[in-house]
Amino acid sequence: MDDFTLLIDLHKSGQRQGPGSDADTERALGLTNLDRAAPLKIADIGCGTGASTLCLARLLNAQITAVDFLQDFLDLLEERASNAGLADSISTLCCSMDELPFEDDQFDVLWSEGAIYNIGFQKGVAAWRRFLKPGGVLVASEITWLTDTRPAELQSHWDTEYPEINVASAKIKVLEKNGYSPIGYFVLPESSWLDEYYRPMQSRFEDFLSRHGNSDEARAIIDAEKVEIDLYEKYKQHFSYGVYIAKKLD
Ligand code: SAH
Repeated sequence: MDDFTLLIDLHKSGQRQGPGSDADTERALGLTNLDRAAPLKIADIGCGTGASTLCLARLLNAQITAVDFLQDFLDLLEERASNAGLADSISTLCCSMDELPFEDDQFDVLWSEGAIYNIGFQKGVAAWRRFLKPGGVLVASEITWLTDTRPAELQSHWDTEYPEINVASAKIKVLEKNGYSPIGYFVLPESSWLDEYYRPMQSRFEDFLSRHGNSDEARAIIDAEKVEIDLYEKYKQHFSYGVYIAKKLD
């Protein structure tokens, strides 16, 4: 089994595939000032197995297109939506976030939790803007420095993993330069990393390893996750996900 298939296997049984929580999704929604009763059209880009999609479908009168490039995740999302009685509000689309087949001015809201880094924040916000109706809202979470300076070990990890990581003021500037007006920002709390994401993932490690015969490849995946978790625990005052809410300017 290749590394990618192993990664999917580790993550698909999680409630979410990145840091976040229903409370964070609802908090971001509050900052959009959207009318919850309005018939909104939303795309949830990089939706994974649908943590935020399901939450939005519960809270809003919306039609949501849930986009991910992994059909395995979308299959689980569809199952969860149907179990929750939300299937009528959600349709899935298997495609890459840099080749979205949408028309211009189509959506009231573009939502993306823990996913835009896959094409880069700057590229994503610039490329996706045209899909929003005038005055439509973008909500995207993005890994963010919480401090102006940070330890060399941490800096060099992120310089390799995602050099676009930056402070919130720089991310907000990217939004301003790309035709948005920032209307809200907050930082994901520690519980959204530890209780909602890392602890549940850690509880799957043992089963995952035995499912894959404790292979070198499976152990390498777990070791990499452990490095990431250790770094978070050691340096969590220096970084988190920022959640950015911004309105499309005409
Ligand atoms: N929003 C979900 C998942 C976050 S993990 C949550 O918060 O739980 C990032 C997701 O982006 C994964 O589901 C992954 O399959 C998806 N992804 C990564 N690269 C992608 C791409 N190029 N196009 C579409 N989806 C992508």
